[in-house]
Amino acid sequence: MFFRRKQSQATPASSTVASPLAPVTNGSAAPAAATTFASTMMDDYPLTVQYILQRATQYFPKRELVTVTAEGYERSTYGELGQRVTRLAAALARLGISKGDRVATLGWNTTRHYECYFAIPSMNAVLHTLNLRLPADQLSFIISDAQDKIIVADADLVPLLEKVKDSLGSVQYIIVMNGPVPTVGAGMPPLLDYEQVIADAPTSFAWPAINERDACAMCYTSGTTGNPKGVVYSHRSTFLHAISVTQADTLGISGHDTAMPIVPMFHVNAWGLPHAAGMVGTKIVFPGKFMDPARVAQVLADEQVTLTAGVPTIWIGLVQVLNQRPDLDLSRLTRVVCGGSAAPRALIEGLDKLGLNLVHAWGMTEMSPIGTVANIKAGLDDATPEEKLRYRSKQGYAVPLVDIRIMDLETGQTAPWDGVTFGEIQVRGPWIAASYYHDPNPADKFIDGWFRTGDVATIDPEGYVEIVDRTKDVIKSGGEWISSVQLEGILMGHPQVLEAAVIGLPHPKWQERPVAAIMPKPGAEGALTPEILTAFLQDKGVAKWWLPDRYVIGMAIPKTSVGKFDKKVLRAQLAQEITLGE
Ligand code: AMP
Repeated sequence: MFFRRKQSQATPASSTVASPLAPVTNGSAAPAAATTFASTMMDDYPLTVQYILQRATQYFPKRELVTVTAEGYERSTYGELGQRVTRLAAALARLGISKGDRVATLGWNTTRHYECYFAIPSMNAVLHTLNLRLPADQLSFIISDAQDKIIVADADLVPLLEKVKDSLGSVQYIIVMNGPVPTVGAGMPPLLDYEQVIADAPTSFAWPAINERDACAMCYTSGTTGNPKGVVYSHRSTFLHAISVTQADTLGISGHDTAMPIVPMFHVNAWGLPHAAGMVGTKIVFPGKFMDPARVAQVLADEQVTLTAGVPTIWIGLVQVLNQRPDLDLSRLTRVVCGGSAAPRALIEGLDKLGLNLVHAWGMTEMSPIGTVANIKAGLDDATPEEKLRYRSKQGYAVPLVDIRIMDLETGQTAPWDGVTFGEIQVRGPWIAASYYHDPNPADKFIDGWFRTGDVATIDPEGYVEIVDRTKDVIKSGGEWISSVQLEGILMGHPQVLEAAVIGLPHPKWQERPVAAIMPKPGAEGALTPEILTAFLQDKGVAKWWLPDRYVIGMAIPKTSVGKFDKKVLRAQLAQEITLGE
């Protein structure tokens, strides 16, 4: 057997939390039946990333792993991955890594990064994926907060670490992958070459027994206010989430798929795709740093990808490219998973026209991340095409094991699932955070065992969630809510609009009024006016009092480090330029 298995492990949480299946006692000595019952239940087999690695290498050694490079494609297999992961773990142990130590990665989506995904958690250390698009002050904060001991970084990203070298006090080595070790100035930790480290390492490693409740990975939120917060995933949560991603009615990732995660591996573990893929033997195509829509389209066709995942901006660009490239054969691509921001209806329709199926999903860093997926639910198969499109444009219904409710913003009471009443979404489940690293009890984020997402939504009678806004982005005009997300979705349906972001700005009479920033499609600059956009919104049935007071046409909409509209920056920019009057 590849790993040393330990069936019976201490499971501290289960000894303190009452199981719903445990027989009820009146608090006196437990009846004999209870003891017998407990001892005849199922094997407490640990749910760990080690197991996923073992499965990937034992059952699927020939399945391919591909990385896109400047020159073309670099090919390997799960079999090779298994051998290299063993050596990497052995090397990290020699360098002093042991249980619970944080080993960070700063890398694009590549097979070597995937090796880190397995080696670090399987040796009982903690994989900390660093967001390479963060500003230097946030990167410094995160590395210091996590006290990373080693950073495995892509060669071309080492300069980012040089910018924060004063915050690398805890870092003993930087291991450089995917390129030659660069020359750096004084004051940096020693740099090692990833391939040399692996070549010099023993070919075997005594894998430790792991408790499924041990920390496996951590990721900091990409929130645009305050310092990022650390979210720590356990082996158990990662494992259960991976199973969920393989379920037919969620994302349905199977061993027969070829998956291309465009979502970065630093963004909530690439939404769990890599773990799910290893579990079932999916071929993975890693895009490296080549995430522009033209290259993505070419790779999707070259590798006959069947499932891909990323934020709407990528897919908006892909539609543009595919409309110019009818020669590309994407006939095997059955799922274009879209999350991170709302998928505009026009995007879903645009992909439909190309014969591509957008699967809309919602979640967040604190949720590992998947909470809802907008598949057509059992029982709705007979809905009309228009009704189905409406459901698919929503964020979806909760996947199994995620429990969801909305709280009325005004009354603080649970809101009805009537598809009309707004409320903050609150969630709980085995892969939902129960606290933050170094901030275990932020009073404003957890309530009675529920996590407050900060997203405002309606839930319809079928259970489909529709996100209306972030709590901090909602626009309140004259005491009534206006949904910026809905306005954006409609505006992005205009044939000449590429991107639209709507924010609220202060207004002397109405407290706040909506203002829309619009990026026209290439070639349509100058064709759009406020009058045209207002007429378009009215034509789509938007109430008069929802219509934006101003449009800023032709501005590049600022984006966050994970490619979403950065409304905080946009609000600050527009507040400088615009004063709303009566
Ligand atoms: P992050 O933690 O960076 O993944 O960001 C999570 C946040 O992104 C959520 O709380 C939502 O506000 C937003 N988000 C994620 N998926 C969607 C979606 N499908 N529609 C609308 N907003 C989304």
